[in-house]
Parts: sequence; structure tokens; C-alpha cells
Amino acid sequence: MHFRKPYWLTSKAKVKVVGILLHECRMPLEAKNVHFQMAITGIQQTSLFHVMHAFCSTLVVVGAQKPVDCVLNTQSWNATLRRYVREGNYEATLRVYNCYRMQMQEDVSTFPIMFKACGALGALEEGMAIHACVVAHGFELNANVANTLLVMYTKCSRMEIARQLFDKMPIRDAASWTSMIAGYGRTGNLSEAITLFHEMQTARLKADVITWTAIISAYARNDCPADALNTFRQMRVKPNAVTLVVVLASCADLAALRQGMQIHGYVIKNGFESCLVVENVVIDLYAKCRKMEDANQVFVEMSERDVVSWNAIIGCYALTGQNVQAMNLFQQLQSTNINPNIITWSTVIAGHAQHGNSNEALNLFRDMQLAGVKPVSITIATVLPSCAHLGALHHGKEIHGYVVKSHLESNLTVGNALIDMYTKCGSVEYARRVFEKMVHRDVISWNAIIGGYRMHGHGEEALRLFDDMRRQGVRPDHITIIAVLSACSHSGLVDEGWRHFEQMTKDYGVLPCVQHYACMVDILGRAGHLDEAHQFIKMMPLKPNSSVWGALLGACRIYGNITLAECAAQHLYDLEPETTANYILLSNIYAASGRWEEAQKVRKLMKDRGLNKKPGCAWIKLKNRIYSFVVGDTSLPRLHEIYAILDSLARKLKEEGYVPDTNFALHDVDEEEKEQILYGHSEKLAIAFGLMNTCPGTTIQITKNLRVCGDCHIAIKLISKVAGRKIIVRDTSRFHHFENGLCSCGDYW
Ligand code: ZN
Ligand code: ZN
Repeated sequence: MHFRKPYWLTSKAKVKVVGILLHECRMPLEAKNVHFQMAITGIQQTSLFHVMHAFCSTLVVVGAQKPVDCVLNTQSWNATLRRYVREGNYEATLRVYNCYRMQMQEDVSTFPIMFKACGALGALEEGMAIHACVVAHGFELNANVANTLLVMYTKCSRMEIARQLFDKMPIRDAASWTSMIAGYGRTGNLSEAITLFHEMQTARLKADVITWTAIISAYARNDCPADALNTFRQMRVKPNAVTLVVVLASCADLAALRQGMQIHGYVIKNGFESCLVVENVVIDLYAKCRKMEDANQVFVEMSERDVVSWNAIIGCYALTGQNVQAMNLFQQLQSTNINPNIITWSTVIAGHAQHGNSNEALNLFRDMQLAGVKPVSITIATVLPSCAHLGALHHGKEIHGYVVKSHLESNLTVGNALIDMYTKCGSVEYARRVFEKMVHRDVISWNAIIGGYRMHGHGEEALRLFDDMRRQGVRPDHITIIAVLSACSHSGLVDEGWRHFEQMTKDYGVLPCVQHYACMVDILGRAGHLDEAHQFIKMMPLKPNSSVWGALLGACRIYGNITLAECAAQHLYDLEPETTANYILLSNIYAASGRWEEAQKVRKLMKDRGLNKKPGCAWIKLKNRIYSFVVGDTSLPRLHEIYAILDSLARKLKEEGYVPDTNFALHDVDEEEKEQILYGHSEKLAIAFGLMNTCPGTTIQITKNLRVCGDCHIAIKLISKVAGRKIIVRDTSRFHHFENGLCSCGDYW
């Protein structure tokens, strides 16, 4: 302890200094020889005052220039310890105990206090040392000492020691039984908790409300909410607030609205309505049962609300996608004197992020920082997917900067979210850097980086990383296998694909799901083994879904197999009659082989079913502003310049031998007009705009809401060559990295 400046004391301060000496120096006897010419600057005075308060009656302050003398006895010592326990300051309890134990003699009241503190702290070693004192003093058989000792061991999860003590106890009261039942419940040994509960009833011990609550909690904690509810019904004593909280939480978990409402009725009838914790769980119950009106009514009628109540109601609105209500309440909360502690912010941000309002999520994240609330790892992990969704690399990097500054880099969830953000924002290199720097990696980290390389068309690197993962002893899960199979597919590795598919169950215990089958169909289809792929689907033990048939249809487009395409499309119409992409793909396949009539028929079928093709839209971000481009939009900024660029590109592309592939336009118009329409495809407009507004050599990155069409793909490859630019296009299924006339997808997407 350091005293900063000399200070002559007032009589009040004398008392404080004595406290400092006794308490903080942990040298009570030496303190006698310390003079008063000391300052108390920079010392936590509040905590000291409590000690002083307890000691005051026995303390003799001799005078300003003389040494302190004080009289301590076990009684005042116990009083101090008890006071700290009551305040929940268990560390201080242990400190004061250890500080005086050489000079003081424990009595029968000291031990229960100490076991309570050790139990709360999970301080097993200290607790065991004090247990040894109990044995030495011969207090082992004292009922209060024995019961608190039992609780201490159960709280430290040492049920085997607790059980030995329990079995040896000559007299067991309801408290001993209850501690054991609660202990077993807490440590996941539900069957032992139930056995003891029944034994206790056979022993004709009066079960009181605490015992009933213990067994109900044991059920609830061990994922048996239905049993918790049943036991509550059998309860033969009046429940207390804790019982009601536990059982209402079980109803919420089960979404058992009817039972929950009955208990809510009981709450109202028996005057528990004014109990804040009970009301907070009632809100949660209604919210989990999607009864937002009822939840809101309870909230509105509450006489007092704390931050938990606000969190509960805002969280419900946010997570059910009712973001307007969530935001309104959030603004109301900000006008109260309750601090939205970090959780409310995170909940509202998560609500927006999960419902695709990525911009709003990012804005709130910024507001939160402006409000001086420091984001924690969970907030970061919540907001990064919004950057990923928007492809907002710039924001993502900003948040990464914050992560580094706040030393959150070593947090696993944050690291995983960063990898995911970087791969989805087009920068697999940055993702790799984050991955390499991670101190700990779990299967999610590996999945993110392997999936990232796959999505960017680097199948071989994905497979190499998969080998590393296995060498490092990380067990792949079903998501890893999907990434690995897709990587094989993109790299045309049929045999390797088969090998992984056959080994997944044997080597990693992963049972193939329909997604794995879809990957295999994709592998076979891409390699041109269309009949084999079809046979494979027929042999599947699971019902093929749209991904499976979609993979086959995609392969049929490449190899122009109309018969199989018709078969696959028929299945797709049945499975997802409203997905226009399937109609368009089949229509394109017909058109590609010159069967215009059939192509038109499919288009008509689509129209008859009232389906419209989703308009293509592409967007590009320049200097923090997002510009979006829709086909045929004549209100675009600097439209003439865009077309001038497209015209000059068209001339250069023709010199490179490019012939527009008009099949993709599929309009019943003449060839020249078709060509015009193709120039208008949204991604080309966005690229032209990007070329106009960036310096030569800058990479152009755009995002597209549909799969990039075949013609645009050929055109963009050539644009990358003639303009000397790297162009990255993120479409609905993957990233295309165009450079010097080639694309990373190898023309298969
Ligand atoms: Zn296109
Ligand atoms: Zn591509």
C-alpha cells in the first residue's frame, strides 16, 4: 500500500486509517506501530468503512500522535465476516478470515459463514482447509456446520464428498436432503436427485417448499421441463417466487402456453405480480409462445421495471422480426434512467442482423459506440455477418481494427466471424491471415476457411487445408464434408469426391444428409457423368430435394441434355413451384439447342402460374456509397457515359472475337435488339460505372442478386483482359474472380 501525501487526520479519518491498516495491510498487529502521519488518498474507502463499522465497538483509537491499539474478539470478527457474506463480497470474507485466523479462535458460528463464502466462490481448497479445522474443533456433528459444509461441497460440484458426509450424518434434516437434491440437479445427475427426493418422502420428512423447488429446478436444469411442470402440479406446499420462476421458465422452454397462463393466473391471485423476477419470466413466457400482445400487456402494467424486463420485451420484438416495435421500445428505454446495458444493444442489433436489415444493424452498432457503450465479443460476432451480407469490406475492416485495439483477437467466436466476413466480402487472403493468427481453432474456424476457399473457386487449397485439419486432429463435421465435396466438384475431382463420400461415415461418424447427396450429383454432373448422376439420385435412401435436382438440371445445361433436364425440371416444379430460376434454366436449355417453341412454352407456363422473373440487380460500393443498377433503368446517374463505356468495350470485345450469346436474352426480338438488351444486364452496367469512377488498376468488386448469366460471364472475362482490371463478382452462389481473360470458377458455376 502506498500513501501519497502526509495528511493530518480528523477524528473521522482516524477511524478510516485504522481500517486501512487493519484491513488492507493485512498486518493488524504491526499496524499498532504505524503512526498517523499518512494519507488516505487513492484508497478504496467504501470497503474499509464496512470493516470499521463492524469493529467500532471494540476499537480504541488512542490519539493522533500515538500508536493505535485495538481489541478484537471472535464476536466482532464473526460480525465482519457475516456482514461481507450478506453483501455478497465473498472474496473479502476469505481475506478477512485468513488475515486474522492466526490470532483469533474460530467458534461454532464462524464455520457456517466461511463455508457459505467458499461455496459461493467455488473455493474448494480453502473450504477443505476449513473443513480440517472443523474436524480439529470437533464441530463436525453440529447440524448447522454439517449442512453448510454439505452445501459447500455441492456448490464446488464435489458430489462424491458431499455424499460421504451426507451418508455419515446422524441427523439429516430437510435442509440436508434439499442440498443434496439441488446439488445432484445442478451437476446433471438427475436420476440421483429423483431417487433422493423419493427416499426423502419415504423417510416421512416434511418436504418444504425449498425441497420441491430443488427437485423442480433439477428437472428444469437437466432439460426435462415437462417433468418440472408435472412435479409442480404434484406440489403439496405453497410455491414461492423461486418455484414460480423455475416453473414459468420451463413453460417458456416448452412453449406450453396453456399451463403457463394457469401459472400466470396463480401469480396474479397470490400477489406475486409485484415480484419483478416473476414478471420478467412471464414476459419471456408469452414472448416464446409468440403472444407478443400479452407479453406487452404484462410489460406495460408492471409497477417497476429493470433492465431485465426491458431486455426481455425488446429481445422478443427483435427476434420475431418486429424491428419497428423493438426500436421504439429501445428509444423509450434510452429516455429512462435505466442504462441499456450491452445486452439490449446486442439484442436489437442481432434482431436486425438476423432479419436481413444489415444496414440498420451496422448503423446501430455505430450509434452504440457513439453512446459510449463498448462492444463486447458477442456484439462483434453479431454485427460482422451484416458486413458479410452487404459485402461491406470497409466496415468489416473497421470492426476488425476495433477488435485488435480491444484485444478481442484471441476470442474464438470473433475470429470465426472475421474469417466468415472476409471470405464473404471477397477477401479470402485477409480471411487466411486471421485464420493463421488464431491461437485456438475449432471446427467452425476450419469450416469457415475451407468453405471460403471453395466459394472463391480455390478447390485445391480447400482440400489441402482439409488435410491439415485432419493432421491436426480436428474432427470434421457434416458442414466440413459439404465444403470438401463442393471443392472436389469445382476441381473436377470425381474419384476424390467418391472417396470422401464413402469415408465420411466410417472415418468421422458423419451420416450423409441430402446436402451431401446433392454435392455428389454435382460432382458427377459437372464431370459429364449425367446418367450416373441420375442413377445415383434413384438409389438415394433419402427423398431428393431441390438442391439434388437443381444440381442435375445445372449439369444438363452445360451438356445440353434435354431429356434429363425435362425430368429434373419436372421434379423441381413439384418441389418448389414458385421458384422462377428453374423455369428460366429449362427455357434456356431449350433455347440453347434452338428449340424456341419449347422455350416459349416454359415461359408461358411461368406466366400462367403468375410468376415473374426476379429483376436482375447489381450493386457496387464506391467511396462509402452503394450504387445499385437494375436492368432497363433509365434514371441511372451518368447513363450516357455508362453506355459510351459499354460501346467502346463492345468494340474491343469484338476484336477479341466475342460474339454476344443471345440465348440468354430470350426475348422474341431481332438479333440487334437482343444484343442491346444484353449490354444492359445489371452487372455490366455496374462494371462500366466502376471503370468510370476508379483509377486504372483498381480491383472492381460488384454484387449481383441472381446467378451471373453465361453471356455476362464471357463478357466480363474479356473485359478483365482488355481493361487490365481484376473484377470480382459475387453472385447468389459464389465468387467469380476475373483476371486477364479467365475466371476462378473455371466456367462452371
Ligand atoms: Zn448477364
Ligand atoms: Zn466465373
